Amino acid sequence: MPIHPPEPFRIKMVEPIRLLPREERRRRLEEAGYNLFRLRAEDVYIDLLTDSGTGAMSDRQWAAMMQGDESYAGARSFHRFQETIQEITGYPYVVPVHQGRAAEHLFFAVAVRPGQKVPSNNHFDTTRANLLARPAEPVDLVIEEAYDPTLEHPFKGNMDPAKLEAFFEQVGPENIPFVMLTLTNNTVGGQPVSMENVRAVAAIARRYGKGLYLDVARYAENVYFIRMREPGYAGRPLREIARELFGYADGCLMSAKKDGLANIGGFIALKDRDLYEALCAQLVLREGFPTYGGLAGRDLEAIAIGLQEALDEAYLAYRVGQVSYLAESLRQAGIPIVVPPGGHAVYLDARRFLPHIPQKEYPGHALAVHLYLEGGIRGVEIGSVMLAQEDPRTSEMIYPRLELVRLAIPRRVYTQSHLDYVVEVCARVYARRERIRGFRIVEAPRLLRHFLARFEPLGELDEAA
Ligand SMILES: *Cc1c(COP(=O)(O)O)cnc(C)c1O
Repeated sequence: MPIHPPEPFRIKMVEPIRLLPREERRRRLEEAGYNLFRLRAEDVYIDLLTDSGTGAMSDRQWAAMMQGDESYAGARSFHRFQETIQEITGYPYVVPVHQGRAAEHLFFAVAVRPGQKVPSNNHFDTTRANLLARPAEPVDLVIEEAYDPTLEHPFKGNMDPAKLEAFFEQVGPENIPFVMLTLTNNTVGGQPVSMENVRAVAAIARRYGKGLYLDVARYAENVYFIRMREPGYAGRPLREIARELFGYADGCLMSAKKDGLANIGGFIALKDRDLYEALCAQLVLREGFPTYGGLAGRDLEAIAIGLQEALDEAYLAYRVGQVSYLAESLRQAGIPIVVPPGGHAVYLDARRFLPHIPQKEYPGHALAVHLYLEGGIRGVEIGSVMLAQEDPRTSEMIYPRLELVRLAIPRRVYTQSHLDYVVEVCARVYARRERIRGFRIVEAPRLLRHFLARFEPLGELDEAA
């Protein structure tokens, strides 16, 4: 198999895209308050904002959608969905939800008491926000290596088991409802977690009488990395590795918009019957009856097939290969990225890209804005706009350790020539980096502010104009 295998599919349907002239792009940015989330998607040429819900479905998925059973209760489509998840995870109980954050909301409502602390390798931003809203405290215990964007490490998404032990001792198990792990670890660059780490973390949680719950939005990509990099897993069937992984935990939360290869959907799957019943009670209140949970029968069909396609050998080789192709091409162009690349995205290192912009002037945000201005490319800042927090005691801002721009690759959507264009645009921005200025926030909500904030450039945005 080549390192970057060609697409294991051919294209049966197309969607036109267009690149607006530069002056129009500048105007659209101004109208959007320099927040890329506020742009019209039509005005974006290559949309790498997220890999969430943006993938292309297969002909098999579209065909299955026509067979969706829209019965209110007991639909055939639910049973297909449930059986697929039971078969992949080995968990008996399955709760459908409309997307990952609904799973978080429901699960935390049932399993977290206000004031408790929840450790993870790194919580994803909606996970963090849902815990804070409880209110509970999300705590990140990732290995220190994850914070060095230049350090090669095969499993940079791992939790530090020593940090977890110390956390249990310091906080006391009564204040910790359970332990979480995010696979792959989105916040630090889509980095995988090793099987050995899952095993170690599960053992510590068990020793303190606690469960382990996995956030498995991208578990299939994680499984592929385990097979590629972890001793003892080479050549093993991917489904077998997945089964082992799920086996160490007590349950999982999933956004099916990622490795479910669907445009919407998610689920909670777990071993504990009492917890399942408590979740169902919440589900009827918030999402829908337990056999559809906020989804149409056709969505359940699409997810059931998507989950299987995402564990396909040829698909994962292409998927992980495409991301590493983009990373290697950027690296060859001298552009600072997080290494090694993760499973779903390449992360530009904005600290090294724009060293003259201090964190309080949002270098990651500035870089993301300039990628759009330069070439109509939309990435997303994962840095101080998304993650900086006010210290409740001193009111000072605490800035995150990494300042990144994520270029997420939608599944089965863009070809290699699209990625070559992305590299070319990044190189053009890099060539004029010294003239790029920072931003200030003009208005912003308190939670998840990156979605809705408005910004103003500090100085002239486009000196080329
Ligand atoms: C996307 C994501 C979520 C939230 O899922 P949504 O479907 O967007 O609500 C949770 N955790 C991780 C790791 C994610 O990537």
